[in-house]
Amino acid sequence: MVVEVIGVRFEYKGRVIDVIQGDITKVEVDAIVNAANEGLRGGGGVDGAIHRAGGPGIMEECRKIGGCPTGLAVITTAGRLAAKHVIHTVGPVWQGGGKQESDLLKSAYESSLRLAGDKKLKSIAFPSISTGVYGYPIEHAARVAIGASLDNLEGGRSLEKIVFVLFSKSDYNTYLVRMEEMLAERS
Ligand code: ADP
Repeated sequence: MVVEVIGVRFEYKGRVIDVIQGDITKVEVDAIVNAANEGLRGGGGVDGAIHRAGGPGIMEECRKIGGCPTGLAVITTAGRLAAKHVIHTVGPVWQGGGKQESDLLKSAYESSLRLAGDKKLKSIAFPSISTGVYGYPIEHAARVAIGASLDNLEGGRSLEKIVFVLFSKSDYNTYLVRMEEMLAERS
């Protein structure tokens, strides 16, 4: 089956950043990132989609790990998914912006990227963490996600490709605008 992917490829410091619209469970990378909760108990949104598509083995590993504080990340295998690993990170619940939400969101991205580097992974795909049920405004979240990713690529560890997978067309468009803006700021 040929799956058409809508997306734009950017380059930064000799590395690739793809921004695509689609379903992260279908993306073939070394690790996809899950927007998990602190109990790693599964839930709705992208978390539910990943556990449904990957099968029960991922949840078994999550139970053994037991939990993950907001802003940190843990790694499991990826069951039946096309990806090799799932990195579960916990973004903050948006409470208006005065509760260190942006630091915690940045930390969620950085922890995921660090874990990928520690495991010498070459490619990673992120959903838009915290902007679903957790209510973080997408315009701000996109800046945090892209900023942490560009910083990581500047550090030049193992990662050669970062993919942002946006479910909705409007989130996808927001990311594209932010990518152009932030690459221009750093050029
Ligand atoms: P959070 O609780 O961190 O806000 P959600 O899962 O509610 O996480 O939402 C995060 C983002 O993931 C939302 O923009 C949602 O539309 C998106 N999303 C949901 N399902 C998928 C999927 N299969 N692939 C990629 N993104 C998804």
